[in-house]
Amino acid sequence: MREWQAIDGLQVAIDGPSGSGKGTVASRLAEEVGLPVLDTGLLYRFVAAVALERDVDLEDEAQLAALSRDLVDQIDWRDDGIFFGGRDYTDRVRGEAVGAGASRVAACEAVRENLLPLQRRRAASGCIMDGRDIGSVVLPDAQAKFFLTASLRERARRRWAQYKSRNPDTDLEQVLLELKMRDQRDAERQHAPLRQAADAIAIDSTTLRADEVVDRMLGVLERRKLIQPVD
Ligand code: C5P
Repeated sequence: MREWQAIDGLQVAIDGPSGSGKGTVASRLAEEVGLPVLDTGLLYRFVAAVALERDVDLEDEAQLAALSRDLVDQIDWRDDGIFFGGRDYTDRVRGEAVGAGASRVAACEAVRENLLPLQRRRAASGCIMDGRDIGSVVLPDAQAKFFLTASLRERARRRWAQYKSRNPDTDLEQVLLELKMRDQRDAERQHAPLRQAADAIAIDSTTLRADEVVDRMLGVLERRKLIQPVD
C-alpha cells in the first residue's frame, strides 16, 4: 500500500556492492513512495548476455563499444525487467555467469558512456535508481543518495540463498569468492568505480532487515521534505 507522496521529479540514488540489498530495498522504497524503480545492473548484465551470445571477447573494448552503441536504442528497460527484440531477457541475465561478465563489460569506458544518456533520460521524471555509480556519476544532483553496505559474508549468504533455490548444489564459499572478485573489479576499475558519493548517507545492512533499511530511508526523505504522508 502506498503511504507517501513524493515531490515531482524526485530522484533517489542507491549504490552499493553486490548483495548489499540494493535491489530489494529500492523496489520496496519505490512502492512506498509511488515512483518507478530502475535497476541499472540490468543494463550491464544485458550487454554482457548479448556479448556472450554473440561470442564477443569481453576484454575487447572496441567490440564492446560497438555492441553497446548498437544495442542501446533498442533496449526496452522497464521497472525491474529488460526486453530486446520482443524477447524477455530478465531471467536470462540474472545468473552468476552473466553477473561476472557484467562486471567485466562495466569496466569498459565506452560501454558506460553509451549507457549513460539512457539512464539520465529515464530518471528525468523521477525514480529510485540503483547501481554502483548513480550518486557519483549518473545522477550527481539526486535529492537523496544512499550507499548500502553489508559484510562480505552476509552478502555472500544472501546471494547463496538466492542461487540455492535454482541450484541446490550451490556452494557458499564459492559464492563468497566470486563476490569478492567482483567487488574488487568494481571498486578498482578506472572508470566510474564503486564508491560512496561525498553527500551519500551510508547504511550498513548487515544486521538490518530490508524493511528497517527502508524505514531509515523514508525517515531521511521525510525530514528533507521530499515525501509527505498520503492522507
Ligand atoms: O547490480 P548487479 O549485480 O546487477 O550489477 C552487475 C554488474 O554491473 C556489477 O558487478 C557492476 O560491475 C556493473 N554495474 C555497474 N554500474 C552500475 C550497475 C552495475 O558497473 N550502475
